[in-house]
Amino acid sequence: MIRFDQVSKFYGGVPALRDFSLEAEKGETVVLLGLSGSGKTTTLRMVNGMVTPSSGQVMVRGRDVSAWPLIDLRRSIGYVIQEVGLFPHWTVAQNVGMLPKAVEWDSQKTRLRVEELLELVRLPYSDYALRYPSELSGGEAQRVGVARALALKPDILLMDEPFGALDAITRQHTQTQFLQIKEEQNVTTLFVTHDIQEAFRIGDRIVIMKEGSMVEMGTPEALLKNQGSDYTRELLASVTLGLSGREKEDRIR
Ligand code: ADP
Ligand code: MG
Repeated sequence: MIRFDQVSKFYGGVPALRDFSLEAEKGETVVLLGLSGSGKTTTLRMVNGMVTPSSGQVMVRGRDVSAWPLIDLRRSIGYVIQEVGLFPHWTVAQNVGMLPKAVEWDSQKTRLRVEELLELVRLPYSDYALRYPSELSGGEAQRVGVARALALKPDILLMDEPFGALDAITRQHTQTQFLQIKEEQNVTTLFVTHDIQEAFRIGDRIVIMKEGSMVEMGTPEALLKNQGSDYTRELLASVTLGLSGREKEDRIR
């Protein structure tokens, strides 16, 4: 679905991403995990054409991103960011119905889709449709953002620290809900986070990024078992701390 082939990105000669290769299969959730500045957002934005590679190739559904008409590409890819970006003077229903309206669905079809989407993110239409973003909690606003991203049934979802601004408990609930939605929608997701617990909870595979390079990639289980680099070991220490002493020793060995 998404393929990076030896992709690099330089800003004024400074590398933000170096020789990055990755393939995400249909329905898979790949998490990009790394500290701030490690190149996660740059990588994500190459998929919807917001950032152009300096070298290498990014393919979406078998077609080079640069060969896609940008508007078609972006409408077929859901994009969720930490800041949510709801229009403050639009109701929840208007925000969620933004893309259906842009592609000129009739009002009946749009309304049904908005109802369906709000149900999907567990915000009952009767309670929420006419609220404004200022009348939502952080978690609710983020769920509206997810509903909006899914409006045109994208088969790819890009999520950039989507739950980063939520308190710990709300974040866990929202993660659980995302896992359910992901099951139902079979959408291929690239998910950026610097939260290790979140990466292990959400990811089918995890890519560990450091200073623009992929340090390691694997399933959560494989990464815990086989920590190839000092960096990964250090990063994952906080995950293994959650295990019993014996298990922890086994995994670190
Ligand atoms: P992350 O999302 O992991 O925090 P980014 O991909 O945003 O990292 O940034 C990676 C590096 O590229 C950082 O050093 C950042 O300062 C730099 N960078 C990102 N976008 C730009 C830009 N538009 N112009 C110049 N430098 C940038
Ligand atoms: Mg970022």
